[in-house]
Amino acid sequence: MTAESDLREKLAACARIYAMQGMLGLFGHVSAYDPEAGKIFITPGMGSDKAKLRATDMVVMDLDGKVVEGDGRPPVEWPIHTALHAARKDALAVAHLHSPYATLFAIAKRKFRPVTLQGAIFSSGVPLYNEAHLITTPERGKRLVEAIGNQRASLLRAHGIVVAGKNLAEVLYASLILEDDSKKSLQAATLGKLSFVSPEESQAFGAEIALARRAQRAWDYFSHLEARWDRQPATGKMELFP
Ligand SMILES: [Zn+2]
Repeated sequence: MTAESDLREKLAACARIYAMQGMLGLFGHVSAYDPEAGKIFITPGMGSDKAKLRATDMVVMDLDGKVVEGDGRPPVEWPIHTALHAARKDALAVAHLHSPYATLFAIAKRKFRPVTLQGAIFSSGVPLYNEAHLITTPERGKRLVEAIGNQRASLLRAHGIVVAGKNLAEVLYASLILEDDSKKSLQAATLGKLSFVSPEESQAFGAEIALARRAQRAWDYFSHLEARWDRQPATGKMELFP
């Protein structure tokens, strides 16, 4: 398998896993950047069925957002991906999701703080992109890069989230954690005051060192589940926003 076909396969698998988890549906997209080839591979635009994406469905763009191969249609918010891939060496994979629980933090403008040990990977913060619009121009992409700084995720007000990482496994894992910690925060808040994992506790947990290993385990686990997923939500009902 060539590096490109491997990346395409992984990107398609990543999109299908997100779809299985109810985090990617009508809206949202995922990309991976190959800096040597100067190519960004990205899931196709709005309306594509993310649960059925295959390696050959990926759109190929350059860092200017120009489609350089095939006649695929990139998502309108492609500047999220081009801006982050261009600006950060550690952002070789980027996901933009309207994941239901994490998005609530972006609506409430509530500061995200980890409530589980897994969530410790976000102990240094998840900045808010405060502008309520789609990121459809390189200028807006640049402002997102400024907002996210060197953090691994950003909340987009009235919209969703962006997660960046060294590879697709890391981005998948981090976004699953962000979503799960958001959900747990909301649920636990009904029981009383939340207790957060402090930066010191996060550091003691060794979040950064263990991340690659945990991300790979999560990838293997969810790939396995996805391989036998029947592609139907359990209720038979899919919402506008997953
Ligand atoms: Zn969006």
